This record gives sequence, structure tokens and C-alpha cells, in this order.
Amino acid sequence: MTASFAVDPFAPGVARVPIGFVNAYLVGTPGEPWVLVDTGLPKTAALTRAAAEARFGAGARPEAIVLTHGHFDHAGSALALARAWDVPVYAHPLELPYLTGRSDYAPQDPTIPGAISTLSRLFPTTGYDFGDRVRALPDDGSVPGLPGWRWLHTPGHTAGHVSLLRDDDRLLLAGDAFATMDLDSWTAQVTKPKQIDRPPAPFTPDWEATQASVHRLAELDPTAVGAGHGLPITGLSVGTLLRAYDGHVEVPVGHRYGRAPAVADETGIVALPPPVPDPLPLKLAAGAAALGAALVWRRRAGW
Ligand SMILES: [Zn+2]
Ligand SMILES: [Zn+2]
Repeated sequence: MTASFAVDPFAPGVARVPIGFVNAYLVGTPGEPWVLVDTGLPKTAALTRAAAEARFGAGARPEAIVLTHGHFDHAGSALALARAWDVPVYAHPLELPYLTGRSDYAPQDPTIPGAISTLSRLFPTTGYDFGDRVRALPDDGSVPGLPGWRWLHTPGHTAGHVSLLRDDDRLLLAGDAFATMDLDSWTAQVTKPKQIDRPPAPFTPDWEATQASVHRLAELDPTAVGAGHGLPITGLSVGTLLRAYDGHVEVPVGHRYGRAPAVADETGIVALPPPVPDPLPLKLAAGAAALGAALVWRRRAGW
């Protein structure tokens, strides 16, 4: 099967590869060393390799793979690509428990209203085990294979989430620190109008840290942003948009992680707030009960 792919070079030296509802980024100028930032959904390695070869030439191979975090839509093809290219995968030390088989992520909270929450029921929150393919990002903030860039610890969506900044022009790859679309809207899943918005809510287990990370990134006054979800936003207005959004992260108050965060350390998740009742199974159960009652009534009535 031929992989169909698109490459969106939205800024010098940075191209977005849309993979379903998520983005990966080819970072580097053609003819020079490059790095893949995030790897998209599972079983999409062929698509990403085709996109990389379209941009960097046949047989193109990065210096490394860098993960903003290890959720399945960002790390899903990391091992397949790392093996195919024989390159290391880098992530923050606090993300390693989920990439070395030590811990699963906090379970999603599907009770938050909106499209992404409804879809979240279908998505895994299990960790991966990439064995010795995965390494910790350097302590000094440098990004292997990407001189001129640095990684920033931006926890909240996950404990070891990082964003990447190119200092020269303040181009920001934000991962899921925030999104550049409204993930809660069904129509936006297709039309993707550009806006700064919260990260995928059902998968975000620490909202205080999320708010602090948004604040930190807004202070950087970026001139271009590529996030994990949504179209890139470029131009001097990006910093203004992000600063306007700072302080307005919509916390899902009353929902599982809106009440209390999941607690994580270097071993992974260590404590979870109790789940809140999920209305959908209740509705399904009520529907099944009604159907059962109708069948009993029908039998009794002799239909
Ligand atoms: Zn995520
Ligand atoms: Zn994501």
C-alpha cells in the first residue's frame, strides 16, 4: 500500500507532517542534519518516512527522534522509526517511565463535554517500552541534532512534557502544552480554525501545571507556533494571542482532574484522584434496561 502524506513547510527549516488528527515535525534545512519531533499514530511509520524523503531526499535519516511526550498519538510510531533509521529517541527524564514499560499514563476522563472527550474512549493510555532506544534529553537544555534549539519542561498535559524553542526567531513547537485548535468542537476536527486553546482535556491530568506551562511559553513571545493538534500559527500576532490566552485556560472544574491532579514522579503515576461517574455507560445501561423491559413486555403480551 502506498502511504499518502503531506508536508507543510510553514517556517524556514520546519515542516509539519499531518498524521490523522495529530502533527509530527521535520526540523532542519534540506541538505543539513535534521530531527523528527514526535512520530504520530501507531502504524504510520511509512507515511512519515515518505514525508521525510520528500523533504530531505531518498534514504533521508534523522540525527534523532525527539518526543514532546509519550502519548500514543505522538510516540505511536517512535519505535518503528527508530529501528528503521537506527537512531535514538529522546524524551524528558520524567517521561521515561511511560517509555520504558514502568508506568501507564493517567487514565483519560471521558466525562468532560466535547468531541475529544467522546473520542477519548477509543484511545489508549498505556505506556510503551522502547528499551534502550530511548534516552533522557541532555540536562543543559540542548536538543541532540538541533543546534540553536532548546527544550523547555512544560508539564501538565504529562509530567515530562517538553516544548522546543528555536532562539533565533522564537519559533515554538508546543506539543500538547496547548493546542492551536478547539479540540472540543466536532466541526473544528475537520475545518481546524486557528486558535490557541487548551490541550486535549481528557488526557490532561494536572491543570495547575498546564496553566503554569502556558504562562511560561507566553512569556517567550513566540513568533510562530506548531502544536501537536491544529494548524501552525505564524506572524507577530502569535505572541499576542498566546499572552491573551495566558490565564484563560479552561479548567474542567468538577471533572476528575479539574478537582485534583494525578501525582507523578520519576517512577510514573503514583496517585490518582477518584474517577467521576461516566454518564455514557449509565445512558447505555439505561437504554439496555429499557430494551430488556420492552422485550419482556412484548413476550408477556404475546406479540
Ligand atoms: Zn498528549
Ligand atoms: Zn496529542
